[in-house]
Amino acid sequence: MDIRVRKIYEALFALEDLRELYRQALPTGLDESEEEQFSNGITRVETILKELKDGKGNPIKQVVPKLELRTREEEFININPIQSGGRLTPEARKALIAYGDGYSVCDKCLVGRLDKIRKPPVEEFHAELAEFVGMDEVRVVPGARRGFQAVTSSLIEIGDLVIVSDLAHYTEFLAVEIAGGVIKEVPSGANHIITADAVAETIERAKEETGKLPKLIMIEHVDYNFGNEHDVYGIGKVAKDYDIPFLYNGAYAVGMMPVNGKEIGADFVVGSGHKAMAAVAPSGVLATTAEWAPTVFRSSHIAGDVTGRSFETKEPEMLGCTLMGGTVVSMMASFPAVKERVQHWDDEVEKSNYFVHEFLRIEGNKIVSEYPRKHSLSKVDTRDSFDRIAKTHKRRGYFLSDELKKRKIVGEFAGSTRVWKLNTYGLSWERIKYLSEAFLAIAEKYELPVR
Ligand SMILES: *Cc1c(COP(=O)(O)O)cnc(C)c1O
Repeated sequence: MDIRVRKIYEALFALEDLRELYRQALPTGLDESEEEQFSNGITRVETILKELKDGKGNPIKQVVPKLELRTREEEFININPIQSGGRLTPEARKALIAYGDGYSVCDKCLVGRLDKIRKPPVEEFHAELAEFVGMDEVRVVPGARRGFQAVTSSLIEIGDLVIVSDLAHYTEFLAVEIAGGVIKEVPSGANHIITADAVAETIERAKEETGKLPKLIMIEHVDYNFGNEHDVYGIGKVAKDYDIPFLYNGAYAVGMMPVNGKEIGADFVVGSGHKAMAAVAPSGVLATTAEWAPTVFRSSHIAGDVTGRSFETKEPEMLGCTLMGGTVVSMMASFPAVKERVQHWDDEVEKSNYFVHEFLRIEGNKIVSEYPRKHSLSKVDTRDSFDRIAKTHKRRGYFLSDELKKRKIVGEFAGSTRVWKLNTYGLSWERIKYLSEAFLAIAEKYELPVR
């Protein structure tokens, strides 16, 4: 436990308490007793800063009772497969401090639509986001899953067929389920790669079996299981040939690598804010073309039978508004950094390959994902290496977690020494080298041969 990290939190919290004085006081200023509290508060901050400087004092452990501080991004290297792309930028963390209140972006909502708010510049952000993913229109949504749902709910009727891959995320299945659709899975084969041919064959098979064409193709650019890259460009072409709308699932791509939906041939692009755009959960993006926008982003038509009330400015698939506070503001604050970082995707891939290359020097270690890697999310197999140690170790599989934790590395699936995943996204070269050396050191400690 790092005393400095704890003291930074303590100082931040103490400043929040000072801020709270202003939220409770009359807008005309602090009264005598509040001035005294303010002065005491400043002294408290100064004391904490002194302790921070000296690296001394009592370390705080909780935000509030029962809610522990979260310090894994400060004190550890976190290789958790799902957390790396959603790590907030400092800009997002600051925005969250300022816009954490409930409906905080609604101060100047003129037409009752989130995507039309000019101050803060939510409207402008929507326009830039559309350009960023190479599509015509976007909405922010509470997670990629809600993007899938908006599309299935608009396009799929009961019994309609939807093509997904045999590596599809469960949220794709559920989005089809609530729309009453039927799943047709594309086999990824021994290579665990979805090809355009396999998609075409699955469409043909579905047609033969049921006499009808699927209503939607939903395929991930990068799957959550292997982190493999699938042929979305080829699939875009197949979708065009069959005239079936194509939802490009960019949950592990948008915000990490450059993505242009129109070049891919996508009708819908879905991204995840908390998975890959350095944003607060739940957040995400649903983008579409001018052709499909009137379908998915259609206006409400319902009216009350007694009051006659109607809500034409609202979009039913969005249930009106979606991300009205810290979520959207965190996306916006991170956006400049996200636009910049996708330009350096090659470097992320290189770091991923460097790590895997070093990892494979340990005899018995295997890579289950495609190799060379094209993504930072990788699945590894350590049954012939670390799992052999686990078999006789008194801590069993936890020995590896223990060893990693000792070296300030967390995020591997605790207790698993068989087949597991990790993500190197966003780690500096120094951290990548540190991480690689840590695994080699553990191997050496347990006398696993290193090539
Ligand atoms: C994480 C993930 C999702 C779900 O994303 P949310 O933003 O959490 O809804 C969907 N598909 C894939 C491939 C994913 O990896």
